[in-house]
Amino acid sequence: MKLLIATHNQHKVTEIRQIFQSPGLELISAADVPGLPQDIDEDADTFEGNALKKARTLCQTSGLWTLADDSGLEVAALNNAPGVHSARYAGPECVSAENNRKLLRELDGVSDRSARFRCAIALCAPDGREWTVDGSCAGRVIDAPRGAEGFGYDPLFVPDGYDKTFAELGPDTKNRISHRANALKRAEDEWLKLLGLDK
Ligand code: IMP
Repeated sequence: MKLLIATHNQHKVTEIRQIFQSPGLELISAADVPGLPQDIDEDADTFEGNALKKARTLCQTSGLWTLADDSGLEVAALNNAPGVHSARYAGPECVSAENNRKLLRELDGVSDRSARFRCAIALCAPDGREWTVDGSCAGRVIDAPRGAEGFGYDPLFVPDGYDKTFAELGPDTKNRISHRANALKRAEDEWLKLLGLDK
């Protein structure tokens, strides 16, 4: 059973592969399917809306069952920014290091560092049925990046109950407790059944 992951972000593909598993499940990334749209305008104002848009568009183009993740970091002291704008917080073509630098500038002198990662995951069937789940992971933003694993804001985010960043904790711990893991765990039983698979 092939399931398309509607992203060109290889880090997300790797994490989803590690979290969402079944013996009969072959997860393929958008990069493995020629002719798919490269860039989908993520113009919804919710994670769920953007996840559905990505999954629906690639499902319709490929004819495959499709799963999409939309995620980001919400910082309490910044009125939940960067939120749905997490990927392009520092500008349209920016890279993660620039986003991280902007976040640290915005939080300069701010004592409330509480934040949470959020993730919505959408599943679309070729016959038009759609499902969504969400997950979150609470923690805090530290004042300088630490660690080399993961991606995005991982070097700045320390999850509650830990004293290391996601980038220091590495994939085994991150993929047990992350927003993406929490969302996929909630979906796992029902969605594997929909796909005709066992855990
Ligand atoms: P999306 O592709 O629009 O969902 O962009 C999500 C953005 O949120 C990424 O580019 C990262 O900046 C950030 N993000 C989402 N999930 C994570 C994560 O697990 N770790 C670090 N940053 C993340």
